[in-house]
Amino acid sequence: METNTSTNNNFIKNIVNEDLKTGKRKEIITRFPPEPNGYLHIGHAKAITLNFELADEFGGKTNLRFDDTNPVKEDIEYVDSIQEDISWLGFQWENLYFASDYFEEMYERAVLLIKKGKAFVCDLSADEIKEYRGNLTAPGKESPYRERSAIENLELFEKMKNGEFKDGEKVLRAKIDMSSPNINMRDPVIYRVVHTTHHNTGDKWCIYPMYDYAHPLEDAIEGITHSICTLEFEDHRPFYDWVVRECEMKSVPQQIEFARLNLTNTVMSKRFLKQLVDENHVDAWDDPRMPTISGLRRRGYTPESIRNFCREIGVAKSNSIVDFQMLEHFIREDLKMKAPRTMAVLKPLKVIITNYPEDKVEMLEVENNLDNLEMGNREITFSREIYIEQDDFMENPIPKYFRLFPGNEVRLKGAYFIKCNEVIKDDAGNILELHCTYDPETKSGSGFTGRKVKGTIHWVDAKNGVPAEFRLFHHLILEGKKEEGKTFLDYINPDSMEILQGFIEPSMKSSKPQDKFQFFRHGYFNVDTRYTTDEKLVFNRIVSLKSSFDTGKK
Ligand code: ATP
Ligand code: MG
Repeated sequence: METNTSTNNNFIKNIVNEDLKTGKRKEIITRFPPEPNGYLHIGHAKAITLNFELADEFGGKTNLRFDDTNPVKEDIEYVDSIQEDISWLGFQWENLYFASDYFEEMYERAVLLIKKGKAFVCDLSADEIKEYRGNLTAPGKESPYRERSAIENLELFEKMKNGEFKDGEKVLRAKIDMSSPNINMRDPVIYRVVHTTHHNTGDKWCIYPMYDYAHPLEDAIEGITHSICTLEFEDHRPFYDWVVRECEMKSVPQQIEFARLNLTNTVMSKRFLKQLVDENHVDAWDDPRMPTISGLRRRGYTPESIRNFCREIGVAKSNSIVDFQMLEHFIREDLKMKAPRTMAVLKPLKVIITNYPEDKVEMLEVENNLDNLEMGNREITFSREIYIEQDDFMENPIPKYFRLFPGNEVRLKGAYFIKCNEVIKDDAGNILELHCTYDPETKSGSGFTGRKVKGTIHWVDAKNGVPAEFRLFHHLILEGKKEEGKTFLDYINPDSMEILQGFIEPSMKSSKPQDKFQFFRHGYFNVDTRYTTDEKLVFNRIVSLKSSFDTGKK
């Protein structure tokens, strides 16, 4: 499977290639333009990977531009987190811009439109504007304010700017065509009055440009050649081109749309993700169950795995839903060779090895990663008392159960064969511990061939093992047929997190946040950055070992 290169061809690449070949473009400049109204999610990672790698492949540049033209929902916390996430993904922007730095130029271009008779101040209310707009079958109706003179419009627009009107009292609209089959061309609003402090420009402005007017100007001002956006903007493209043309921008960007990424078992809009945080369905934006980049990072995903995923899903012209398992596939692939393979017991059951000397502690040498011997070996301790997994013992075994049960012998991974002789219970009948014996002849690596056992189980030495917490995650959103009138909140999985207290090998005692391991039989785990303390390590399960997913490529 080809996952490490960006050579997968896509239709956008073909356009860029052609533009360079025909001389339409001398260089390629792309941008990633997030609105700082939330943390980035995996869908943004797709757009980031696409924009940065596209420019990079053709020797071009990519700007990071905060599309901060809406003062109401934006916040500096988001500005910081977005930069952190892009850098962490491994991309470096050429320039960092704020769209709000272009407010002056946007204003001047609006004045130009007014002078050309291409924009007018309208007194209709928002509801009236909507009503006048018409719909797909009915043409719109012209505003009674449409024929105001340029002089009057200039005066009114100036007054809007000077704060002489209340929010919603007046807007500036482009003057195009109320009977256009494309509703976006029916005199769209381009400026509105909002008396709110802006995180970058403070109280300097009380009129703000609308997205559809601002975005093409931002692209043109920065000399963006290919402005890549998601499919829902396809119908906005005629207005995008209109703005660039009528505002007489020197540089002419080309808007190209691609399908946004949708994933199963989650929600992907910042608005919904914010709701999950605000209503305490999750801890924070970086909760390991969140599809945010910071959540995936805290969960234990690597930048490589996310980039590879984004490349593999490719760029298409029609929307589809990608299975979450595809993302999981890429983190397994990435960690397979990198993560040390160690043992952790998540639901402990004590085992006393009755024929093992009381005070003896033995050092056993085991490989760190059998698939990558370059990772070397480590030592683990073995002594009279160990923990095994509760699930690895059955008092009354079901057919084909090859793990531990009374009278049965199993191999302890990297150590000895043990045989269960006695089950110790409390008065209520709960199992307290097992009494086993070991066979010294069967030491792992000794070449013992005397007899075979069918089951191998993992364990942690009770004397030197280290207590740890394990957090197992399940999908945040339950898939299934969505009923009418219900929202995603009705499909939140109430059991999306399971917290367990168990033990890890002593070799992991000094692990640091973000260290990653493959726990024998349990999957890949990451040391949590928020809840880990000097006293206690907390592990997030990134993904289990098994996958039923097949990418269909070899
Ligand atoms: P959200 O609904 O999550 O707020 P958005 O599109 O409003 O998403 P922006 O901050 O405006 O978020 O997005 C920045 C860029 O990321 C845009 O160019 C947008 O097209 C792209 N993007 C956002 N979501 C996705 C997605 N799911 N898949 C691909 N690209 C996306
Ligand atoms: Mg948005």
